[in-house]
Order: sequence, then C-alpha cells, then structure tokens
Amino acid sequence: MSVLAKTNILIVDDSRAICEAIRAILFHLGVNSIEMEHDGYSAVERVKYGATQFDLIILDLHMPKMDGLQCLRNLERCQYKGAIVLMSGLEPRVLSSAIRASRQYNLNLLGSISKPFLEINFRIMLQRLEGTQQFSLKSTEGFLKRREVEDAIELNQLTPYYQPIVNIQSGEIDYFEVLLRADVPGKGIVPPNLIIPVAEKFDLIQQLTFGTFKKALNELGPLFESNNGYKMSINLSPKMLENRALPDTVEAIVEEAQISPESIVFEITETGIINRTGLTYEVLDRLIIKGFKLAMDDFGTGFSNVEQLTSMPFTHLKIDRCFVHGISHDEISQVIVKSLMEIAKVLKMEVIAEGVESYQDFETVKEIGCAHVQGYIISKPKPISEINRWISGWHGLMASKVG
Ligand code: C2E
Ligand code: CA
Ligand code: CA
Repeated sequence: MSVLAKTNILIVDDSRAICEAIRAILFHLGVNSIEMEHDGYSAVERVKYGATQFDLIILDLHMPKMDGLQCLRNLERCQYKGAIVLMSGLEPRVLSSAIRASRQYNLNLLGSISKPFLEINFRIMLQRLEGTQQFSLKSTEGFLKRREVEDAIELNQLTPYYQPIVNIQSGEIDYFEVLLRADVPGKGIVPPNLIIPVAEKFDLIQQLTFGTFKKALNELGPLFESNNGYKMSINLSPKMLENRALPDTVEAIVEEAQISPESIVFEITETGIINRTGLTYEVLDRLIIKGFKLAMDDFGTGFSNVEQLTSMPFTHLKIDRCFVHGISHDEISQVIVKSLMEIAKVLKMEVIAEGVESYQDFETVKEIGCAHVQGYIISKPKPISEINRWISGWHGLMASKVG
C-alpha cells in the first residue's frame, strides 16, 4: 500500500478516544499523515483554510453543535474534493437514511462504518480509496498524459487482457473479464489505474471503454463461436451510467460484432452507483431489457444493503477481494461471505469470489459453497495470444480430474 504513505486523512469525531483508536488502526494499515478534529466547525475550517489537502475525511454523524450531515453540506459548499466515509454508533437504519440524505450533495462518498468498528472496515475503505475511480489526481506519478491516452485510443495501442472466471464445481469456464491495458511506446504495458482516472478527468472514458470493448469483441469473438456459451464481462465507469445513449451504443457495438447481448456482462462497482440518479436506473434497466447481464463489482465495500440490492437489476455479485484474500484464517470474512451467498440465493444472483490467490483460500471458498471463482490461482489476466493455450490447459486439467 505504498500510495497510502502519501495519503492525508482527517478524522472528525467528538470522542478523542475514538479518534485515537482510528488513528492507531490507520497507522497500522500504512497511513502516516493523520489529523483529527473534534467538532464539525473546526473540521470545515481546517478544510477551508488549512494547509493540508485531505484525500479522505472520516466523519462521525453524531456530534454536538454541527452534526455530520450539516458538516457534509458545509464541505460541499467549500468544494471539498476528497473522499468521505461516514461513521455512526446509532442504529444501522439511521446510517442508511443519512447516506440517502447525503446523496443530494456533490461529494465523493466512499462508504460507511458502523461503530463498534473493526480493522477490516478501514482496510476496505483504504482499498477503495486506492482504487482507480476514487483516488484524486494529486499524485500523478506514472499516470499517462492526456495526449498519451488519446494516442492509445487512436493509434490502436489498447491491449485488453483477459482473466477467466470459472465454475469450480462443474469445471466450466463462465466468462472472461476484459481488463484494460495500453501498450505505450517507451512505457510498455500500462495498467488501468494509470489510465482510467486520466480518461475520466478529460472526458475520454467513453471512447476508451468503447475502444477496448470493440477490440475485445474482435479478439474473443471467434472463441464465442467455437465454444458456445462463453461470455465476456467488461467494466463500466460509473460516469458512463449518466449517458442516456449508453444502452443503444453498446447494442450497436455488439450487433456489429455479431455477438448476442446475452454473452455480455457489464461490471459496475458498488461504490459507483452510490450517487445514482433516476437516469442511472433507467440506463441499467434498459441494458437488462436489451438482454445484457449486470454484475455488481467489488461488493461489500460500499453502502449497499439488501434493500438496495433488490431495487436494482443485477444478475451477478462479485465479492470483493478484501473478503476473499486470507479468508481461510479469517472467521469474520467467512461469516460475511456466507451471508452474502444466502442473500444472493434469494435474489437469484450468481456469486463470484474475486481475488482467490492461495490454495487455502480456494478450499475455504469452495467449502462455503461459492462455485464461481476468479483469481491468480486460476489464472492471471493474459493477452489474447496466451488465452487459447490457457483454455487447452484448463480443459486438460479438468479432464484429468474426472478421468
Ligand atoms: P476489478 O474490476 O476489480 O478487476 C480485478 C482486478 O484484480 C484486476 O486488476 C486483476 O488483475 C486483479 N486480480 C485478479 N485476481 C487477483 C488475485 O488473485 N490477486 C490479486 N492481488 N489481484 C487479482 P487490474 O487489471 O489492475 O484492474 C484494476 C481495476 O481497474 C479493475 O478492478 C477495474 O476496477 C478497473 N478497470 C480495468 N479495466 C477497466 C475498464 O475497461 N474500464 C473501467 N472503467 N475500469 C477498468
Ligand atoms: Ca471488474
Ligand atoms: Ca472487482
């Protein structure tokens, strides 16, 4: 977590003891720059006039004088651009309703934490903060320049990698997730976290995604024909869900590639739909109506509760890596994954465990009954030139198990 060493965090809680407890956890997780305030006024003043530009504010809802919601309104007024995590010791329902209320503000809400909290709650939030969409462009080390992103799109430098998701019970390959990469002269293969924030900032994200999508359909399309039943998933940036034309555009793209929408899963991160509007719902519904599938990505790291899950038309649920990595010796993660499985069963959603790396975690996930797995233990993401060989190897492995 090297990027965390450069992250500035402000903890706002009227209890000094709680501030200290959170500080200790964050420090343990690798954050060095942590400041504290004990009331909303001082927090807002600090953001407005202080020397530090914060990447994250951890904000208690229940504080005397200016409470958390008032504080949010003031943070919006002073155009705070970092992320926010809400925290509350009140009933979970109060937290949910506060989250609903706070959606009206133009703020970057990263997640919520109920008290009493555990280290894992903060680990999840920091992982999100490190994630591509949320992290500010303050430290631009290694990021592509705007011109380089434009070139990557125009000069055919987009080089999607593919990572399989398999059914470990049947041995079948479920689908391949398309993971963006660009092959930039002088730099080699550049990963998505150095491209996507730039594309989002300069309004290039649609071109970038559609370019990657077309290339992936082109490269994987022939496999779809020869092995009926293969699917492909592609990540959509939350910003794209605000485009009313998206369902028609992607429909035209698959039509041209002669691939059926049923073979395509769009992955959208849970945090990406936090600030959703009526338009987002419309776009998601129309994608489903057209026959596409929808996966909620990185599930467990945002705000969603069962009620929110039922209100949206997702067909797949991808359990975030932070619950899966190390699950074999983490009872809390086991309980969380088990209960997510039960919820998904009721909602008839397919559950995928992301980021299975070790044999022990693989066995635990299997025991819990999660059949669909993605992770380095199955395969790292690979360019198209290596996919056919991987498929043959996988089928060989499965045949040897049966035989
Ligand atoms: P994601 O959608 O959660 O994709 C999975 C990420 O986890 C990939 O990183 C993959 O290489 C990595 N991964 C898979 N299995 C394991 C494992 O066992 N252990 C570990 N440690 N990591 C594993 P990658 O390719 O660097 O992508 C990072 C993120 O960038 C993706 O996370 C996704 O949010 C975003 N992204 C990638 N392609 C696109 C795209 O075309 N559009 C948009 N909007 N976002 C994209
Ligand atoms: Ca994904
Ligand atoms: Ca994911």
